[in-house]
Formats: sequence, C-alpha cells, structure tokens
Amino acid sequence: MHSALHPSRLVPQGFVVEGAAYQGNRTLITVRHFNEFGICPSCGTVSRRVHSRYRRSANDLPLSGRNVQLWVIARRFRCDAVLCGRQIFTERFAESVLAPSARRTARLDGIIHHLGLALGGRPAACFAKRLMLPVSNDTLLRVVRRRARLPSDPLKVIGIDDWAWRRNYRYGSIICDLERRRIVRLLADREPATAQAWLAGHPEIAIIARDRGGGYGEAAAKALPNAIQVADRWHLMENASRAFLNAVRKSMRNIRAVIGATTINPELLTCAERIQYEGYLHREETNAAVLAMAKDGVPIKQIVRGTGHSRKLVRQIIRGERSDVFRLRQSSLDAYLPLLDAQWDAGCRNAAELWRRLKAQGFRGSLRVVGEWATRRRRAELVDAASIQRIPSARVIARLMTTGWDTLAKAETVTIAAIENGLPALVQARELIAAFHAMIRRKAEPELSQWIARAWESLVASFANGVVKDEAAVRAAIASPWSNGQTEGQITKLKLVKRQMYGRAKIDLLQARLIGAA
Ligand SMILES: [Zn+2]
Repeated sequence: MHSALHPSRLVPQGFVVEGAAYQGNRTLITVRHFNEFGICPSCGTVSRRVHSRYRRSANDLPLSGRNVQLWVIARRFRCDAVLCGRQIFTERFAESVLAPSARRTARLDGIIHHLGLALGGRPAACFAKRLMLPVSNDTLLRVVRRRARLPSDPLKVIGIDDWAWRRNYRYGSIICDLERRRIVRLLADREPATAQAWLAGHPEIAIIARDRGGGYGEAAAKALPNAIQVADRWHLMENASRAFLNAVRKSMRNIRAVIGATTINPELLTCAERIQYEGYLHREETNAAVLAMAKDGVPIKQIVRGTGHSRKLVRQIIRGERSDVFRLRQSSLDAYLPLLDAQWDAGCRNAAELWRRLKAQGFRGSLRVVGEWATRRRRAELVDAASIQRIPSARVIARLMTTGWDTLAKAETVTIAAIENGLPALVQARELIAAFHAMIRRKAEPELSQWIARAWESLVASFANGVVKDEAAVRAAIASPWSNGQTEGQITKLKLVKRQMYGRAKIDLLQARLIGAA
C-alpha cells in the first residue's frame, strides 16, 4: 500500500503548506495552521473571528540537505466573551509542535537537546553543522539547560558521595537514586551544611548509603534523624585491611627484633651508635622506597608528594648521599660520599689514601673526617648488609601474613613463621581483621558486638574504636543490601562527561547532561 507524499506531511503536525521556495541553501516553507478557530488563553472561549495575520518564523528539521525555515502565517483572533479582559489574542500551537515564541519547532529542539546531552556544547555544534541543523555552541548549551528536568520520582534509597571538580582543590557531591540506578542531583560542594539542606528537603528518604568520612553522616543525622545510614562496605573492608597494615607498622621494631636479631652484633657498636642503628634501619627503609620509585621512573616531584619527604632529602637519596649506617656530623663529606663508596668498593681501605684521592677531587675537609668515616664503614661491614635488606617492608609483611601458606616461597615462610612465633599479638590482629571481612561477606551482623569486644584488646583497637563511633551505619552496611558501590560507578560516568566538557562544565549543565541522558 502506497499513499501519495503530500507536502503537509513534511512539516510539523497540524500545519498545511501554502508554498515553498529556495533561498540560497535554505528552504523556505510557508505554512498555516489547519484549525479554523483559536482558543482564548485567558478564558478558553473558542473564537473564529480573525482580527489580523502576521508572520512568525521558525527553524525546522533539514530537508534534502538544506536548512528549513518555516514561515508560519499566524492569526490574531478576537475574544467575544463578555467577562474576558482580553480582546485580541494570538494563535497558539501545541507545546509539542511549536511553543509560544519559540524560534524552532519542538521536533528540532528535541534533536538539539539530545545532541547536546550526548556530545556537549562544542562537539555537538560541529556535528549539528554537518547535519544541517542551524545551531551554535551556546544555543546547544542553552537548550540542554532549559530542557533539564530533575527527576521527580519519590526517593527512598539514596547514595551520597563526593567527586573532584579538580583533585585536592575543589569537590562536589553527587546523590544517586539507588533503586532506580540514576543520578538525581549534583551539589556544588561537599560541605555538610549543603548536603544537610538538600536532605532536609526530602523527608521521604528512608535509607542513605554514604562513605565513612563523617561529613555526610552528620548531615544526614541532622536532616533526617530517622533515616537508616549505611556505611560503604568497600571502604569498610579497605579500612580493616589498612588497620592491619598499621598494626604491622607499629610492630616493625619488634619484627626486626624477631627476625633481624642476627643482622647486627651490638657488641661491635658503641652505645651511641647502637641508638643510631635503629635510626639507620628506619632510614634504609625510606631509602629503599624512594630508590624503588626513582627506578620506576617516578619524577622527583611526585616522590616528594607521595612520600611526604622533603625535596632535598629525596634528591640526597637518589644521589646516594644518604646510605651511610651512621649519621654524619660533617656535611662537608656529603657530596663526596658516592666517590668514597666507589673508592672503598674498589678496594682502597686506607683512610689517608682515601683522603688524598678526595682532596685531588676538590675535597677541603680534614683527614680526621675521612678517618672517622673509614672506621664507621669498617664496622658497618661487619654488619651483614644483605641480611638487613632481607627484612621486608611493613606492607610486604602485611601481605605475606594475609596470603595462604601454600603461596609463600620458602624464605618467606621462614620469615613469617618467625614473626608469628614471636608476635602473637600480630597474629591475633590478623585473625580479627579476617573475621571482620568474613562477617561482612556473610552478612553476620549479630557477631559485631562480640567482635568489637575482642578487637578492643588488640592491635587494631583504633579501628574498632572507629567502628564503634559509627556503629549503626556499620551494622547497616553488614546487614543491608544497599551499598555506595553504585554511586562510585555513577561518579565514573560523571568524570567522563566532565572531561568531555573541557573544564567548562558548570554544575547545572553537568547535571542536566547526566540526568537528561538517563
Ligand atoms: Zn477570552
């Protein structure tokens, strides 16, 4: 079945084509509305008495690769209703066809809106040009803003979290409807007061999933005291693991004592040096960490930021000026340490000879300084340097202690066995953390009280304390099916759209694009 193509089928519904013409690469189509009457917007009376006609222009969808401009012959009607204050009114068309005073038809506006949602301002404007849609960057953004509709479904379960406009500089908040899996609102900052004000406007919310930072928890408690708060499960797991790592860090001195007892013979050291030796072990850890990063090609600036050490210190470590066992009083020697090390390694053990060689390189210190260095160095060599390095870092120990025995290498097994025999408190801490993880996985919320009581007496007491401070939300996290994991997913989406907007993202626009696209 074929039906003839009538020109009126090409223009928006309700209009009749009166005539068409080309002007450059534009198509001008003159139309009028099919209705023979108008309805007074004030009183609703139907009128057929035409007062006058005027021309309205509106852009429409392109036709055969050309822009289309509609010339709408619109009418003015007289209102005859006795009690109506309006005598003349202009013809109106349905919002879904051509809104009052709109410069483009609703169907064109809809396409522009979706282009803006999908691509953002500038890329959408480029694409629109190819599609022969007459629209600028600014217009696109304006349409997206104007047509933004905040979801009005009643909220019951929400997730709230923060996201970075710019990392470490400016943050916003995101609120998600966890039941419908969509973003409902972006807030311009992450201040508790802002979140509180928004939450207070939504008393229908019954469950709030949030992270354990505290800010959102307080805001929610103030705004919606009856809502159930759910701590984020992933962060709980992560915090528990971190608590164990901290317990290992705190025990490093004891760990060294247990597995490193053979690494240095204290008889060889003076009393002062024995005190310094502890410091040396600590410094060696720092050195190893920094050198490992430098070896991986991490820039100095980033090492400074990552480790919290000063720029000067990091530079010294990388240059190899900080590897002496005992802290040097004379800084005059610092610059020559790599040279000294090289000479020493080459077999020169004579302090006077070393001093002469340094002097030839511009060293201005006395023989005594070099002599003292050589003495310390000789003593240090009695220390089995290799066995010092065999003490793994806290992070490695924490990992080894929490992986199964069967995955450990033999040397690791020996180390871990020594730690476990020597430090039962650390073993207990590990078991507590494992129990905590298992509790979350099994959703065994009733076990929490007993767990807290045990943990309080252990190396992870401070973590247990944190749990107690936020106990209701932690309980809900263990028992409830809701979690903020979904919100994290939405943040990934947000970042994608934000990046697409080249830093021009304003919060309303970002919000319109994220919510409109759903
Ligand atoms: Zn009227």
